[in-house]
Amino acid sequence: MKIPKQSNKPLSNAITILAVSIGSVAAISVFVDFSSFDVSGVLFMLAIVCCILIAKNKYDVGVAEQYAQELEQSFAENLSVASKEFYAQLYQNSPIPYLMVDSQGLIRSINLAAKRILGVPRENVDNTNIFDRLDCEKEDHLDLLIQKYKGGLTLSDELVKIKRADGSLIWAMLSIFKFTSDDEQLGLLTLVDITKQKQVENAKTEFVSLASHQLRTPIAAMKWSAELLQMDGPETLNDKQKKYIDRLLVATQRMGVIVDDFLRVSRFELGTFQPEYTKINLTALFADCIKEQLEKATQKNIEVKTFYDASIENIVSDVSLLRMIISNLFSNAIKYTREGGTIHIGFGKKNEDIIISVADNGMGIPIADQPRMFGKLFRATNAVRSVPDGTGLGLYIIKEAILVLHGNITFTSVENNGTTFEVVLPLTLAE
Ligand code: ADP
Repeated sequence: MKIPKQSNKPLSNAITILAVSIGSVAAISVFVDFSSFDVSGVLFMLAIVCCILIAKNKYDVGVAEQYAQELEQSFAENLSVASKEFYAQLYQNSPIPYLMVDSQGLIRSINLAAKRILGVPRENVDNTNIFDRLDCEKEDHLDLLIQKYKGGLTLSDELVKIKRADGSLIWAMLSIFKFTSDDEQLGLLTLVDITKQKQVENAKTEFVSLASHQLRTPIAAMKWSAELLQMDGPETLNDKQKKYIDRLLVATQRMGVIVDDFLRVSRFELGTFQPEYTKINLTALFADCIKEQLEKATQKNIEVKTFYDASIENIVSDVSLLRMIISNLFSNAIKYTREGGTIHIGFGKKNEDIIISVADNGMGIPIADQPRMFGKLFRATNAVRSVPDGTGLGLYIIKEAILVLHGNITFTSVENNGTTFEVVLPLTLAE
């Protein structure tokens, strides 16, 4: 609040009075004879009165200013004391769990909601490291979070498991915002309990997994029956019937692929997928994956050029995951490349990694769609327009498979020019 200061108006008033008085005396002296009167004495008196008025005004302004300053200071002090208490109350009783941690993760203070979520209502958590209470879905993700935090980065909405004092686990989204207090780097940590949402999500994934598994048997039976019917000669089947059986086969095959994709996604999401590491001849695996789909490429008159690093012969990895990655990328390259295009597919070595690369000169991916390419069920706008046959699950599955193998996938793409996918996997050569 601002205290209005006393105005300087009386000073100008005093000067005006003095000027008017001198002026009046001078004007009257034209008509009246002041010879018997001490004019200079009167003017002198007037000047003294004005000086007193000016001095008093100056004094009043000074006092008012000092008073205003004192009032402002005491008001600010009261306000800061009130807001300190107010914020302390807000922090302690907020329904959102808050913890203050130091630069290493040691707990400095904890509010009631955070004690509740950690299950430590009475236990003293001072000097407990918050990272000792956390776990993540993927093995090394917690280490990465700790490194990021200690490296001075902000953590935002990270999915973590919290180990409660009674041994139970709950799911939460964790964020840590850095701030400085008394020259010390601290972190304000918030937790949002999402255990219920996670349970619902898991129940849905389990249902998809179960349903996909159960659907596989009837789909396989339909496929076999259609294949058996297809074998019948022209004496039992006319052209029209043959055409319908062909359509039936294509549809059941497609249904089988979709159901297999659903099953894969649910297995990755439930975390039940266990890789099996065996010795693999990478060149043979690539040749096999390419052979399986070469007919589709030939039908579109697409040239397939391969490149294999001869120094990598046998590696140790999960063959079904690798096959899934190579086949999916190759199948996409064929699907999204126009007639007469070219695909370069192969692998090489960079430091301690294998680099798998699949490059095409097809339709590419619009720049606006690129950030969402590895999302579940996402298809780029140009693909939706010109290639209706797709689920948007392939890249999501590949990304999950690559994570299981501790690798990484990136791509570069220019619409109407082509796309290059690059997979980096840790190289373990077989003895
Ligand atoms: P689907 O191919 O079944 O739609 P994917 O998950 O395999 O699903 O691919 C997701 C989307 O990524 C595709 O719909 C397409 O828009 C884009 N995409 C993938 N590979 C390529 C590629 N080689 N060229 C252009 N777009 C691609």
